[in-house]
Amino acid sequence: MREELSVLLRAQYPLIYLVTSEEERAEQAVAVLAQQSTPLQRLYVWTMTHGMVEYGHPRTTGSHHNTVSPETAIDWVVRQKEPGIYIFKDLHPFIDSPGVNRWIRDAIASFKGNRKTIILMSPVQQVPIELEKEVVVLDFPLPTSGELEEVLNQRLGTGRANRLDRHGREKLLSAALGLTRDEAEKVFRRAQVVAGRLTEAEVDIILSEKKQLIRRNGILEYIEEDATLDWIGGLEELKHWLRQRSNAFTERARQYGLPQPKGLLILGVPGCGKSLIAKTSARLWGLPLLRLDMGRVYDGSMVGRSEANLRNALKTAESISPAILFIDELDKAFAGSSGSADSDGGTSSRIFGSFLTWMQEKTSPVFVIATANRVDRLPGEFLRKGRFDEIFFVDLPNQEERQDIFRIHLTRRRPQVDRFDLDQLAKISDGFSGAEIEQAVVAAMYDAFAQEREFTQLDIIAAIKSTLPLSRTMTEQVSALRDWAKQRARPAASSVAEYQRMEF
Ligand code: ATP
Repeated sequence: MREELSVLLRAQYPLIYLVTSEEERAEQAVAVLAQQSTPLQRLYVWTMTHGMVEYGHPRTTGSHHNTVSPETAIDWVVRQKEPGIYIFKDLHPFIDSPGVNRWIRDAIASFKGNRKTIILMSPVQQVPIELEKEVVVLDFPLPTSGELEEVLNQRLGTGRANRLDRHGREKLLSAALGLTRDEAEKVFRRAQVVAGRLTEAEVDIILSEKKQLIRRNGILEYIEEDATLDWIGGLEELKHWLRQRSNAFTERARQYGLPQPKGLLILGVPGCGKSLIAKTSARLWGLPLLRLDMGRVYDGSMVGRSEANLRNALKTAESISPAILFIDELDKAFAGSSGSADSDGGTSSRIFGSFLTWMQEKTSPVFVIATANRVDRLPGEFLRKGRFDEIFFVDLPNQEERQDIFRIHLTRRRPQVDRFDLDQLAKISDGFSGAEIEQAVVAAMYDAFAQEREFTQLDIIAAIKSTLPLSRTMTEQVSALRDWAKQRARPAASSVAEYQRMEF
């Protein structure tokens, strides 16, 4: 990003929008570039509280009076004769006013050949349509591991008590990736206060603080899952695929010449374990699992806000990569993005476009696992070969798999499962999903518990008989999905079992 910024400044771009919540770091980076420029460009910073102040000068002597209002500040910039860079901090609340954006357009038109650049610096990206063609938007990246190491070194000081070996250092740093410089400084300090030292053992304190921060971001959710692949009945092909890629994000895999896996789309009948498999795969691969809540990405309060939300979330995911980004119900998330039924001023299609571009271009190891119940609502671009590494179809479990699922759910609740005839339960629960099997077991337990006794085979049979599975109420939808998947997706269960089921 710094190189990009440097190129833009040298190429005399008049207007740059720098998206960042780390004003100080970003300002320092621009200051370094300004110092290196020939001819030297002076750097000024505008805020609505102090007006225009020369960088590095105290406000009292460096400030240019009467530049507090955006219009006067821009006018002042226009009148400068020398080369300069002018950072406007948080101009976004004013930028939509016709006055301000007209002033900016006139100003940049006057810059030609003058080596002057305005940088709009703000934590949110908000570009009015009038400026869209004139501005280059850059994301100021979060600190790299090297930059965080500087923070860590300052914190550790030179004391003997805090001697940390290379391995411990790397662990602390990778735990802190994804935080801003200030946040990293705060968590290192906190870990030091809590534990009285800062060693590898404090990684958990840092991780839990990071989870808090991710929670505060509100769009990504850090999911912790205890379940392992053994908790899932059936889906052998999919499990095999996942197991085979357990070490796909290691340095060893890169050296071997393997490409980084991009993502997996799991289509299928509701309640058959799609979300569960996404969650357990994070544990299998030993990577953090971040759920992207698309509902929260959309924000109608301000134009451009939704895009900024998505960019922020993806940036955070990238900064803590390798990680798994989990998007549940992709079909719902992007349902409004195609066709003319666009009732939200094009926001959903823009969001969809940014997401696809990100998927296409991402180089950081963020593996996307997306699930969907319906293909008809899913934009075709997602299904094109090459977007995801594989598209799996999860069908209803067959008899053998149902038996497996009963065994799993009963074992999770009672140590002795020999007293149940699993074969019989599997036979009579034809058309049931995994979720419905689990519900039948739980319903049987409730019944027996209310009568103050242990639950039995008969309770489960009664619960099964009183359930109308979704596959019966939604027959058409399920068979449409199957027809589609038969041609285009890979069965998540083993192919032989799949073949039998197709006949059903
Ligand atoms: P939806 O499309 O409705 O989100 P889903 O396919 O993502 O459904 P899950 O949420 O993963 O389904 O399943 C719900 C619950 O049902 C799981 O938490 C699990 O307890 C149980 N379940 C579903 N499928 C299986 C399975 N194959 N093996 C064991 N348990 C299962």
